[in-house]
Amino acid sequence: FKARWWSLNKVKTVCSYCGTGCNLTLGVKDDKVLTTVYDEDQGFHNGQLCTRGRFGYQFVNSASRLTTPLLRKNGKLEPVSWDEALGVISQRLVEGKAAGGSTVAGLVTPRLTNEELYLFKKLFNGAIGSDNIDHAAGYAHEALTVGAAQSVGIPASPAVIADIQDADLLLVVKTDAYETHPVLGFEINLAVKRKGVKLRIVSDKRGKLAKLPGAATYLHKPGYEIQFFNALAKVVVDEGLGAPEAAATIPGYGEFKRSLESVSLPQAAEQCGVTVDELTALARDYVAAPKALIVMPTGMGYPGHGSDLAHAVINLALVAGKIGAAGGGVLILGEKNNSQGAADLKIHPVAAGKNAAAILDGCIAGAVKTLYIAGENPVVSYPNRKQVELAIDKAEFVIVQDLFLTDTAAKADVVLPVCSFAEKEGTYTSVGKAVQRIHKAIKPIGLAKSDFEIFNQLYAALGGDKFAGPEQVFAEIAATVPCYGAIEYAALGDTGAIYAVTPKPKLIPVAGAVPNAEAGKLALVTGSALNHCGTLSLHGEGPMYVCPAGYAELNIEDAARLGVNQDELVTLKSSVGEVRLKVKVGVRLPAGMVFAPYHFAENSINNVTNGAAVQWVSVSK
Ligand code: SF4
Repeated sequence: FKARWWSLNKVKTVCSYCGTGCNLTLGVKDDKVLTTVYDEDQGFHNGQLCTRGRFGYQFVNSASRLTTPLLRKNGKLEPVSWDEALGVISQRLVEGKAAGGSTVAGLVTPRLTNEELYLFKKLFNGAIGSDNIDHAAGYAHEALTVGAAQSVGIPASPAVIADIQDADLLLVVKTDAYETHPVLGFEINLAVKRKGVKLRIVSDKRGKLAKLPGAATYLHKPGYEIQFFNALAKVVVDEGLGAPEAAATIPGYGEFKRSLESVSLPQAAEQCGVTVDELTALARDYVAAPKALIVMPTGMGYPGHGSDLAHAVINLALVAGKIGAAGGGVLILGEKNNSQGAADLKIHPVAAGKNAAAILDGCIAGAVKTLYIAGENPVVSYPNRKQVELAIDKAEFVIVQDLFLTDTAAKADVVLPVCSFAEKEGTYTSVGKAVQRIHKAIKPIGLAKSDFEIFNQLYAALGGDKFAGPEQVFAEIAATVPCYGAIEYAALGDTGAIYAVTPKPKLIPVAGAVPNAEAGKLALVTGSALNHCGTLSLHGEGPMYVCPAGYAELNIEDAARLGVNQDELVTLKSSVGEVRLKVKVGVRLPAGMVFAPYHFAENSINNVTNGAAVQWVSVSK
């Protein structure tokens, strides 16, 4: 880097990429972030960072950052003052409020701080009178955490990150943590290699974790996760494994046990593409481990059945007696840096409010007239790009605030430049329920304001009281969100605080739907590419060096059948669109599936996705 380490100003803060919540130190000079460093005294991870945390910081100083508010005049976005931009927005929001509030909707990224998310919710629910707020995680993570709330009483993991090292067995479901939450992947690696922790993997694709010593992988057909976990629970209950007397005292046990009577192990095994012996062996291994931790990611929650999936997984952990003690439980991996905070603060629709998909439908139908998008880039990262573009085009007035002029921002009526994590104060909550402070390291770039300042000003313009800063908002969060009640902002220090929760378990029977197979087509799975996270990593040199563009990954058998080789182009086509992508051939995926990362704007895989639980696409040369 461009300066000696000793000459830099060092600022401790928290990584803004994934939900692991790694601590890092920024090296700053002349109001520029020049590096991030390895500091072995920092965090549960002893300073270890993945490529995103270590080399993904360049987005902060990117020349593509927005530096001034923009307002559409005569069809073009033109630079304007903050007063003019906020004046136009407040007037629009006041009109929306006067019309009852429901014509205004908001999509907000869970990358914002807890204080910013709380203010956004207050602006909508309180000042405007609209319950229409959501975020991309509403498609997956939110459903999983809502499901968790119903099963164990909290919209969070009944586990903490340290449980990875305390467990005797890790049951990793549908994630290659090395790719999605790399430092947690290192933690799993350490637990397996140094402590001899057993590793069992249930997934529809084979990842790098499968190569760890002693790992057993159970590959299943996509869309049959609920059947898989119901079958495991059936083995536990029918064989009386674990502590059946204690399990029988859990609320809902009778109904759950009856629901398992209709589960046929041979049928479940056939549907999932495994054997009855494999299901039985896995269930017995899981129960036999004194402390067993299930690790599952947000991407596991398909639209429409994320909550059921959370119930199916937590049901198994409950009947096996694995929730409540150190080293056991279920760790839910929120994708973004503050996905857990967004779940805790319930940044999703309440009462009759619309979720993300309904908000976009509402724009098309004319029910939503003003759409406020804070940090989300739905045109690229939501399913069915054409439909999302239509929704944004149809909305009467679109506000976007972001670091960059994204494909979504380019369609807006007003665009507001915001501060990055290095230019502001506040808190994030990690997947392990650790509430941690971030710190301002540099002045805002250009005329950028923090999301906090913007929401605070608009809240006041709509008649609310202004907050003095994040600490005052955090005090209100602590007073209204029970699990934050014991936390004091000023006392968080460098290490943060893990909030404690007491699970209130309940067994909730669920039945898996049978996905429709389409002859001659492949099942499409989208997810994270190595070292990417959402669309932010597209502005980081490290992640772009490792993976610069989208691709379609095929099993070696399907590639041979289609007559395509590595790096040749194929067309993926669905009922909603098509895309041309380079092929990656390998053995990670079973035959019959195709995988594509969702981050990339160019040749976006969301040209073909439609949000279905299992989507079928034709693949041709
Ligand atoms: Fe950042 Fe996640 Fe990597 Fe940690 S694992 S350094 S939080 S991206």
